[in-house]
Amino acid sequence: MTNLAKYAVSDHNSKGRLFFESAPQYRSQTQRDRDRVIHSGAFRRLEYKTQVFVNHEGDMFRTRLTHSIEVAQIGRSIARVMHLNEDLVEAICLAHDLGHTPFGHAGQDALNGCMKNFGGFEHNLQSLRVVDQLEERYAEFSGLNLTFEAREGILKHCSKSEARKLGELGERFIQRFQPSLEAQVADLADAIAYNNHDLDDGLRAGLIDMEPLREQALFAIHFEEVSKNWPSLSERRMIYETIRRMINYQVVDLVETSQENIEQLQPKTIDDIRQSGTLIKLSATGYSQHKALKKFLKDSLYRHYRVHRMSLKASKIIVSLFEVFMDDTRVLPKDVQYRIKSITSQSADSEGLQARMIADYIAGMTDRFAISEYEKLFNPLTLT
Ligand code: MG
Repeated sequence: MTNLAKYAVSDHNSKGRLFFESAPQYRSQTQRDRDRVIHSGAFRRLEYKTQVFVNHEGDMFRTRLTHSIEVAQIGRSIARVMHLNEDLVEAICLAHDLGHTPFGHAGQDALNGCMKNFGGFEHNLQSLRVVDQLEERYAEFSGLNLTFEAREGILKHCSKSEARKLGELGERFIQRFQPSLEAQVADLADAIAYNNHDLDDGLRAGLIDMEPLREQALFAIHFEEVSKNWPSLSERRMIYETIRRMINYQVVDLVETSQENIEQLQPKTIDDIRQSGTLIKLSATGYSQHKALKKFLKDSLYRHYRVHRMSLKASKIIVSLFEVFMDDTRVLPKDVQYRIKSITSQSADSEGLQARMIADYIAGMTDRFAISEYEKLFNPLTLT
């Protein structure tokens, strides 16, 4: 990669991988990270996992996979113009949701409830667990053995008690350091992506009304401009054109604000970045518009009764699966049973370990697999 800023992550300043590997022949270390994420099983399963709408609700809605690709697109655009490590940003963006359960946040909340006596469940920490341990593809190590910087970017937030278990990776949550600029970019690219595409999906599903939406500054400014310039455009196309402008406006705002912050700090190395405050930011106006839209989506879409009904069913599925697997591991597939047996037999906390492995198994499920497992286990008329 040419033209990298001196404070960007590169092969020269990377803290490397947990398991030493020689450098790839024709790729950078961060390209290797990105490629490993794409080849992982957890990445493929994102195709059938909920973003907001459960996968079977319609083919046009975002899934975790298309969400992750949109996040990566926004992240790459920002990284390139700011001379940051584009491959690393892409790797983080594509991996950031690998730990999501089926059925989105409803699934995560239900699983967290099931795990309350066993250390809880948190999707972001689970994303790290997927890339550090759960993927089994390589001869020499478990997980994907990603670079420190990719792992640091994936772990966006972490409680202090969890951070203490993570060694160097957890240190920043204890000492209050910042992660690389690449991680900061991926974090905001996620927020920009979901705000805009959830709005698009919510409108398409007919769950969001235009009238209150037009009171949202971020939407209103662009929608008015589009309808003034193309008054006879169909409403659907007008919405697409508006959302595309909203994304562009936020990306430009973020780049300009962040570049100003960097200009002021004059960082020379990545350590300067880690020791300063957050540099990748929206402007004050941009941020307040973004936050207002996020709140609007929360009230009108994420809490819509139709979304809530699905969430209720989702949590019933997750809780039922967890309980039946905990109760009788013999209903689990043989390889999962075997793994549980071989690990719990060597430990004093066998119940806790069993719970964690069942949580891993459930979290890895796609929406449709979880639904079909539920059917097979609880509907006496369904043959297994
Ligand atoms: Mg996300």
